[in-house]
Amino acid sequence: MPDVFADLVGQDEAVTELRRAAAAAAAVLRAGAADRAPALLAAGPASDAESALAADDAAPGEVDPSAGMTHAWIFTGPPGSGRSVAARAFAAALECVHGTGCGECAGCRTTIGGTHADVRLVVPEGLSIGVSEMRALVLRAASTPSGGRWQVVVIEDADRLTEAAGNALLKAIEEPPPRTVFLLCAPSTHPDDISVTIRSRCRVVPLRQPPAAAVAEVLVRRDGIAPDVAQWAAAAAQGHVGRARRLARDPEARKRREAVLAVPRRLTGVGAAFDAASALIEAAEAEAEASVSEADTTERTALERALGAGGTGRGAAGAMRGAAGQLKELEKRQKSRATRAQRDALDRALVDLAGFYRDALTMALRAPVDPVHTDTAALAGAGAQKWDAEGSLRRLEAVLACRTAIEANVKPRIAVEAMMLALWKG
Ligand SMILES: [Zn+2]
Repeated sequence: MPDVFADLVGQDEAVTELRRAAAAAAAVLRAGAADRAPALLAAGPASDAESALAADDAAPGEVDPSAGMTHAWIFTGPPGSGRSVAARAFAAALECVHGTGCGECAGCRTTIGGTHADVRLVVPEGLSIGVSEMRALVLRAASTPSGGRWQVVVIEDADRLTEAAGNALLKAIEEPPPRTVFLLCAPSTHPDDISVTIRSRCRVVPLRQPPAAAVAEVLVRRDGIAPDVAQWAAAAAQGHVGRARRLARDPEARKRREAVLAVPRRLTGVGAAFDAASALIEAAEAEAEASVSEADTTERTALERALGAGGTGRGAAGAMRGAAGQLKELEKRQKSRATRAQRDALDRALVDLAGFYRDALTMALRAPVDPVHTDTAALAGAGAQKWDAEGSLRRLEAVLACRTAIEANVKPRIAVEAMMLALWKG
């Protein structure tokens, strides 16, 4: 039976470390039960990032002290490498009644299913995680675990914390409640992604971009996808597991990808470049709209019902004034989420496009590597002949520069237009 770490594709080293830490954490709990000590994890003012919480308390000979448990972790790696998968699997192993992440017990199943009472998952919907959300979270995480094991807080996209929220989190990590474990996910430990002070208190688990073969294997085993489709999708998704699964299963996702990869062919002049820019932006908007509109409507209906919209009589007018504020707040949140969904969709398109020019570059250099996009390899080969290595590289750089510009808050349409012109002119 596959355990909770089975879906962590191509990350053997990280899995080994997490298994060891889970065993150490289980040993802490066992030692605690034997001693009747209320909380062995009292780390005090955690002065040492690697405050090896379990080390001193683990039964002798049972656990390697250097592999002990610690209360704050950061999972880093490129998008799709499985940061949040790793964090959730580790959370499950901590809540597992066997302490291993067996995948079968109630602790494992409820954690993976997102319903464990002691596991809190923060998935930012907007562009940043705010301070009030973080304060509330930290407060709840300080309570005694109801299941008798650990309180676990998983923060996906910790790089999207606002500064104030980061400070609230830092305070909790500096003075950790005895049974609370923080699991942060971020692209890297660069100061742009995670503050140096938070970083210094966490143990880092670096994940790598999983090899295409490993991604294909999991699509076949777990999702029952045909091997040839899985191989194609794994290569096209460039190591992004979730994207590979979508490409393999969702015809709309395949259609969007094909439209993006048709861009190089369509760039025949200035007008065509602007048209291609519009098409790309509008496709990203449509994709984002499709992904958030249902949630938007559901939330709005629920809030209106909760606020008793349409009510009359005494107090109704005052209630509606308060309600207007809450609706405004909801709209603000939804707008932020829509913006992020658009950026994510646009970024996926840019990654596909970068893959095309990378193929042209490697072909021009006659590098012995497999193309990212097998289905447009012939087109990339023609580009390689026409542009040579230098021209291919310039185009690849134009795509990457566009991503960087959008990340730095340049208006997407302006960045994409500049890119299309650069791709056309070479
Ligand atoms: Zn279990």
